[in-house]
Amino acid sequence: MKTQTSQQHIAIAGAGLLGRLLAWRLRLLGHEITLFESGKLQPESNSVRAAAFTAAGMIAPLSEAVVSDANVYRMGQFALQRWPQWLKDLPQRDLPKNNLRQNISPKSNLPNNNTELFFAKGSLLVAHPQDESELQQFENELNFVVPECRNYQWLSGHEIQTLEPDLHSHFMRGLLLQEEGHLHNREFLQQLGDELIRLNISIRENTSVETEPHTIRTHSGSEKFDLVIDCRGLGAKTQLKELRGVRGETLHVETNEIHLQRPVRLMHPRYQLYVVPKPNNRFIIGATQIESEDRSAVTLQSSLELGSALYTLSPAFAEARIIEMDTNLRPAFMDNLPKIFCNPGLIVANGLFRHGYLLAPAVVEQVLTQVKQDQTILFPDLLQTSLL
Ligand SMILES: Cc1cc2nc3c(=O)[nH]c(=O)nc-3n(C[C@H](O)[C@H](O)[C@H](O)COP(=O)(O)OP(=O)(O)OC[C@H]3O[C@@H](n4cnc5c(N)ncnc54)[C@H](O)[C@@H]3O)c2cc1C
Repeated sequence: MKTQTSQQHIAIAGAGLLGRLLAWRLRLLGHEITLFESGKLQPESNSVRAAAFTAAGMIAPLSEAVVSDANVYRMGQFALQRWPQWLKDLPQRDLPKNNLRQNISPKSNLPNNNTELFFAKGSLLVAHPQDESELQQFENELNFVVPECRNYQWLSGHEIQTLEPDLHSHFMRGLLLQEEGHLHNREFLQQLGDELIRLNISIRENTSVETEPHTIRTHSGSEKFDLVIDCRGLGAKTQLKELRGVRGETLHVETNEIHLQRPVRLMHPRYQLYVVPKPNNRFIIGATQIESEDRSAVTLQSSLELGSALYTLSPAFAEARIIEMDTNLRPAFMDNLPKIFCNPGLIVANGLFRHGYLLAPAVVEQVLTQVKQDQTILFPDLLQTSLL
């Protein structure tokens, strides 16, 4: 088949993570884009919004391979290369400072420009002394799923303190996973939203749509396009019967008593929780994973588990202020792996589950090859021949 290079008018349904990224990358390739979003491009925190805004922004191929498979690891490695390359295409911009608190520490982790939206500093796994077997179990599982992976390192208590001096001193063993990173995802989504406007993408907010080959249906009628790309996340559930939502809850706290350079995961026999540093002395603590499509507020039990895990990472978190509690649903298929369905005139990309930022680069680049009608198959497991 010939490579399709001509400009197309492409409709994208959903301006969450995949929709925004695809609109951006396709516009840079010269296509005319109309982006439909049922909510707003920059949604309020109390509105139903993309899972992308709730995510912690970890890009964790090793940690996620252990709970999925080696393909996730390989796609995650690809993401660690792709994110910094993509971010070079986003105009540099200072992030807004949080004016709510006057006493911003000089050690604030506020990024200055887009190169500082993404960090490749690895992540740290720790366990309380009585739970250290969890670390060994993690290493065993990692070696089983990704035998070729050697890019991690055992740490002593002293080495943990050297890397992250503000953590509790009782952690005697840890694992540094060098091949992991994190992204300041809300700031990225906001900046990318602004960039889509600057690139003259036609953005239709507050417009809930259904998709068909070459067609977008809204409450007021239907519109034709050369191609439709459906990135509605859980909003596509009516058309993708196997899609389900998996509830996740997070806490956001603010404190200038603690500074972390990288995400820290606390390994525990009953749960694994993480804390991810964010701009303006903020931290996200997450996340629960509950088989439920209930979007209601964070439960007392979850807030206690998340809060106490945080406190045991460092007692200095005791004085942190809880500034937000967030709940959202991860869009997932039965195997918890993403899929791209390709039909003439309609591409559907969905099922990123808890791996949105980790796997979006692989999904986006594979969709781009489909749009170009290029025969290259970058990630064969992503491609499905037809809709469910
Ligand atoms: C608590 C939590 C923590 C997470 N942490 C991480 C993490 O650390 N790292 C990571 O890689 N991933 C993480 N994720 C997963 C990540 O957020 C998702 O995988 C990702 O956001 C999915 O991207 P998406 O574009 O498919 O869907 P979404 O980001 O949900 O976007 C879908 C968009 O479509 C819109 N839409 C829906 N229906 C319609 C309609 N009918 N018409 C028009 N628009 C519509 C929605 O409003 C939304 O804007 C986390 C998720 C949760 C919930």
